[in-house]
Amino acid sequence: MEIIRPEVTTPQEADLAEGKLINSFLETCTGQYPDPDKWLDEEIRRNVLLTTVDAAVAWARQRSIFPLIFGTACCAFEMIAASGPRFDLSRFGMDIIRFSPRQADVMLITGTITWKMATAARMIYDQMPEPKWVIAVGACAISGGTFRESYSVVPGVNHIMPVDVYVPGCPPRPEAMIHGINRLHAKIVKGTIDNPNLALK
Ligand code: SF4
Repeated sequence: MEIIRPEVTTPQEADLAEGKLINSFLETCTGQYPDPDKWLDEEIRRNVLLTTVDAAVAWARQRSIFPLIFGTACCAFEMIAASGPRFDLSRFGMDIIRFSPRQADVMLITGTITWKMATAARMIYDQMPEPKWVIAVGACAISGGTFRESYSVVPGVNHIMPVDVYVPGCPPRPEAMIHGINRLHAKIVKGTIDNPNLALK
């Protein structure tokens, strides 16, 4: 706004000119700022989100778990299909599949586990940083499946490591795996910073 200062010669004229200038400010400023009582509540309702640190961390954690696929048999191919564009695991923050246990959050056991492989599977599990989870995918991983009576087959991966979610089937379809992953998300989101597996107890 351009301010035009009139020529003044006496103190009275200077006072009058100053008064006019202040009045012009008031005329242009009055009404420019809406009454906060009328808009503040709505603004707060739309823009302020209150939560706890535990809830924010659990929410972020459940949507960014990196999977390690321990695939030993046919179920692994269904897991690969679930990772493809049709079923698109990326929607759940799981598009970065890790083959290093140090960068993985969830181990997906997909296939038959023999006793010969049990030590390797357990070693990989032990190398994963906390918090970590395990999903047993398919009848073989859950209970040994068709090969349960064999001398060489582990009758359920829960004999060698704790399992958080079981996805039944021979093999389970990708939709079933995604459902199992969603069940794990539902558990993770109930955890806290100190106890990420609170809901699993
Ligand atoms: S559960 Fe069935 S599909 Fe999966 S690894 Fe065992 S035999 Fe293969």
